[in-house]
Amino acid sequence: MTGVTVLGVTGSIGRSTLDVVRSLSDGYEIVGMSAGSKWEAMVEPAREFKPSRVALADGEAAEKLRDSGVLDGAELFSGPDASTRIADADDADVVVSAIVGAAGLEPTLAAVRAGKRVALANKEALVMGGDLMLRTAAESGAVLLPVDSEHSAIFQSALAGHKHEIKRIILTASGGPFRAFAGDLSSVTVEQALNHPTWSMGPKITIDSATLMNKALEIIEARWLFDVPADTIEVWIHPQSIVHSMVEFVDGSMVAQIGPPDMRLPIQYAITYPERRAGSSRSLSVEDMASLTFERPDLERFGALELGWRAARDGGTAGAALSAANEVAVDAFLNGACAFTDITDVARKVMDEHENNVHPTLSEIWDADRAARERTRRVLGLDN
Ligand code: NAD
Ligand code: MG
Repeated sequence: MTGVTVLGVTGSIGRSTLDVVRSLSDGYEIVGMSAGSKWEAMVEPAREFKPSRVALADGEAAEKLRDSGVLDGAELFSGPDASTRIADADDADVVVSAIVGAAGLEPTLAAVRAGKRVALANKEALVMGGDLMLRTAAESGAVLLPVDSEHSAIFQSALAGHKHEIKRIILTASGGPFRAFAGDLSSVTVEQALNHPTWSMGPKITIDSATLMNKALEIIEARWLFDVPADTIEVWIHPQSIVHSMVEFVDGSMVAQIGPPDMRLPIQYAITYPERRAGSSRSLSVEDMASLTFERPDLERFGALELGWRAARDGGTAGAALSAANEVAVDAFLNGACAFTDITDVARKVMDEHENNVHPTLSEIWDADRAARERTRRVLGLDN
């Protein structure tokens, strides 16, 4: 039996992971699950999968889950470090890191420290702590396998060659809801920004996809996962979301990974790798591939991309500053406290002021995170 712990089980990736494990049926079992505060959304999964460990960041929510009577002998962890405390449990062979934002950093690091296979969806953890994460994985023998569809595609494509043979990575992007939007982006509404054309995802990454900050974070993610220089990573808009990314090798040969836009595919591959198992995703028909288009992104309109290349080049705490500024600004936008275009503008200001620390410790990463959050709040006028 392969034991799987799902951090962020109530979210979009978490629920898809449960689907994957359900459809794999033999050989895999859920041994641990965690979430922030949505205890009601854990009742059914806890009843169905009977994990040995359950964690909730919110203490009151944890009590309510206990009172619901579904825990059936499972050990309950609560408090801000609850996910971290279940991430290194002995019976977990694979840890699916699917918490959103900076809250995923320490739980992911705990799994890496324990030498687990980490199926990584929480890109912010790598954006914030790429250098530390890789150093820790090298010591513990942990393997980081991408869940992000583009990075899973790059990983699968890169299997055809060696790292030093990679000439270029073509990271594809759907372009989000505002790809062909003719109006003024500063006045778009939350509802418009949440209306993603091809993927159904949690709110934060959906806004990130609309600003293209998601792609910026993915440039940084690719820089760490594949250990390539930032300028070998290109971004191309591919609205059909069928070519999930491509790799060009030094001989000019290109390898792409193609599939339906369904996150269960990369999640399953990260769990079963190097094996492939029958899954529940639909097959792509050849007609689906008849009109694939690629266009260059508009770097003026979507200024977030440039910040991604900048942070990928700078390394160190630059990613933590960018990610923290973005997280605060996205939250502010979702709460009606700033305009859509303020997200990228404030992130740029924070990066301009950021003093980079190239090989940070965990506490220095948190210092950079905290400073960036404070600056973002100040610039957006969120402090009293
Ligand atoms: P979501 O908002 O749907 O779910 C987030 C999960 O994190 C929830 O289970 C929530 O309870 C949990 N969480 C939040 N704060 C927590 C805390 N302090 N402690 C413990 N758990 C906490 O988000 P999502 O769309 O599933 O995305 C999750 C991650 O995966 C993000 O980093 C995102 O960028 C990445 N990702 C998502 C997709 C997708 O299709 N949704 C694709 C690629 C990458
Ligand atoms: Mg992605």
